[in-house]
Amino acid sequence: MDEEIVRPGRSGSHVRRDTATTRALAAVITGLLAIALPSAGAQQRPELSRGAAQFVTVDAPVVALTHVRVIDGTGHAAREDQTVIIAGTRIATVGAAAAVTVPPSARVLDLRDHTVIPGLVGMHEHTYFQTPSRLSQMSVSAPRLYLANGVTTIRTAGGMFPYNELNMKRAVEQGTLAGPRMHITGPYLNGGEGSARSPERHLRNEEDARRVIAYWASEGATWLKFMADVTRSVLAAGIDEAHRHGMKVTGHLCSVTFREAAALGIDNVEHGFITNSGYIPDKRPDVCPPDNMRRQAEVDVDGEAVRATFRDLIARGVAVTSTLSVYELFVPERAHLDARALEALSPDTRREVESALSALGDTSAFRIPPALFQKMMRFDREFARAGGLLVAGVDPWGNGSLPGYGDLRNFELLVEAGFTPEESIQVMSANGAQLLGELGDRGTIEAGKIADLAVIRGNPVRTPADIYNMTLVFRDGRGYDSAKLIASVRGKIGLW
Ligand SMILES: [Zn+2]
Repeated sequence: MDEEIVRPGRSGSHVRRDTATTRALAAVITGLLAIALPSAGAQQRPELSRGAAQFVTVDAPVVALTHVRVIDGTGHAAREDQTVIIAGTRIATVGAAAAVTVPPSARVLDLRDHTVIPGLVGMHEHTYFQTPSRLSQMSVSAPRLYLANGVTTIRTAGGMFPYNELNMKRAVEQGTLAGPRMHITGPYLNGGEGSARSPERHLRNEEDARRVIAYWASEGATWLKFMADVTRSVLAAGIDEAHRHGMKVTGHLCSVTFREAAALGIDNVEHGFITNSGYIPDKRPDVCPPDNMRRQAEVDVDGEAVRATFRDLIARGVAVTSTLSVYELFVPERAHLDARALEALSPDTRREVESALSALGDTSAFRIPPALFQKMMRFDREFARAGGLLVAGVDPWGNGSLPGYGDLRNFELLVEAGFTPEESIQVMSANGAQLLGELGDRGTIEAGKIADLAVIRGNPVRTPADIYNMTLVFRDGRGYDSAKLIASVRGKIGLW
């Protein structure tokens, strides 16, 4: 499928020559910039296949992004008129344009009226799409859409095709697939029996949990995701086994409350307020209360029970993943799909998604009232204000929320929830990197870090919707053309 859209001038040999030259020059420049580059050894990146290289428009040993607004991912206010120098795979310098000397050999991109942000770290990302009538892989479209929208690192959160995800991860690392760096969680893990239609692994007991987790550790998963019917004893064994293998654990919980899971040592909980059953008075141990979601609407989000949850999660270092953009599509008053996202769907998939959204009337069991959605936003904001580690993800499983686009919608929703634009970027970049244990290498725009960056036309601090105007996304110092990546998957979701 790549062949038909390769531009004539960009042959495989041309790309290889570029890359060899890049390495030689980068070695020299790295020497010159050694003071600014704390780990100069990590200049490794794969050569790209023709299929992946067709999206790269900036690939030079030294690149200077000049006169650009920088939102650096630390939460600090944006800085105007900056210059960012990229040498090889790393950021060499960031500073006021007037004070930074641009090396004569640099490829200079004058980015007046543009903003640069750190590559986003998406923490609830899928690569499949499921509508009522079909389940399809997005093994090419998802990685391209993530990258096009500035998401340069993803962690899956359960998967329908975990072997496919391991293969995608390898292809990205080998340079044959344009996409983000990937952390794989393996299949969905759950308790209960599971129907004949279930794609999840239903763990029978503690021994079963340990065996399955040891296996996925051996296959290359680095995280695990538990679902809503797991028991405390199986979750406890799972967390213990995962930690033995150096893996981390997250959960879309219900049968186990956030506070119980925190006490068991879980690392992360997904979706925030709406999945914490701990506020429902008649909840039975190890059982997900019926009608959990609707009853959550009656909980006082400013009450002592929620404060106690925050204290426990923070004391035990448990991060919360905000996935507002996917839940917004269950709020009929707010469920509007972005035209750009709709264009990515195949015609059949689009019909199904649109009819599911329009069926979200007042009586649907999945309907989220606006007031409950406000509580979800408030929970995320107050958790972060209390000192909790809030990360973000998109959860594009099939209701119309899509890779990349949903991540960017989260930015607007976090701003609506009361975060500053700079804090919202921090949630979406540095905080995810911190949870992955990679903040030393990525997540912020600072000298010495990996050059994962997204360039935006406009100013999302003043106009949050500008966040969608990504033009160029750097991963490992290579600049990918956003528009070209998006064009390559138009109409493809639901097909591949
Ligand atoms: Zn999910």
